[in-house]
Amino acid sequence: MEKTNRVCPVCYEQQPSPLPELSHPDWNTVQCAECDMVYLDEAPDYASLSEDMAWTKQFGIEAKRRKQKEPFIAWLDAKTRWRLHMFRDNEWDYISEHVKSGNVLDVGCGGINNVPEKFSPFGIEIEKEAAEISSALMKKRGGFVVHAPALDGITQFDDVFFDGIIMRSYLEHEANPRQVLKACYTKLKPGGAIYIKVPNFDTINRVVRGVNWCGFRFPDHLNYFGIKTLKHLAELENYQFELKNKVTRYTNDNAHCFFIKPLGQ
Ligand SMILES: [Zn+2]
Repeated sequence: MEKTNRVCPVCYEQQPSPLPELSHPDWNTVQCAECDMVYLDEAPDYASLSEDMAWTKQFGIEAKRRKQKEPFIAWLDAKTRWRLHMFRDNEWDYISEHVKSGNVLDVGCGGINNVPEKFSPFGIEIEKEAAEISSALMKKRGGFVVHAPALDGITQFDDVFFDGIIMRSYLEHEANPRQVLKACYTKLKPGGAIYIKVPNFDTINRVVRGVNWCGFRFPDHLNYFGIKTLKHLAELENYQFELKNKVTRYTNDNAHCFFIKPLGQ
């Protein structure tokens, strides 16, 4: 597999410390010496990801690896995987706290349209077939889906177009999260908000389970955000940061937060 070297995805620093106990035999987990961001220091090449290594396929390979390595842990992990997805149904309620109506972009929308009726739905989807299905559904409500990696896709929309953007279980996969968020800033209206859900590196469960924590997926999860690094990333790109799960910041396996483009910007 072709690999690309990575610098810190938050601050672009190049001298990370290795975290061997949280690494995979083929993939190094490292921590930025400057901002504490945890990430994989290499990524699979994007071209190979588009179709022949779809997330679903990679998920199967990873599950098999775990099963062979630690059968009991793999079983336990499968039994408790719901922890990463337990808030799935609330996400549109979350974004609705900041966005009442208008154009909403679903990054990595899959082959569906589950954008609520009150919004005009738009999407970006890397898998070709899913993008076509979703686009047909969104066109019925005045929107459409761009088939592209996120960074290419976002540039195809007009500036100051979106009232809201939703990124659920996406930013951990993105090789260039800061570039994507920079691009989103120009596409958002002032006062617009991005809702982000990513695995929460700060969860106590990660500390207890180590590399067997459900948030680790090699190599499809490239970025391991904690609350501090999410806030840092937001501020570097001029967003106002708001943590949704304040009370459960150390017990929730996901972090839920908003990146808000300030009014008057
Ligand atoms: Zn850094």
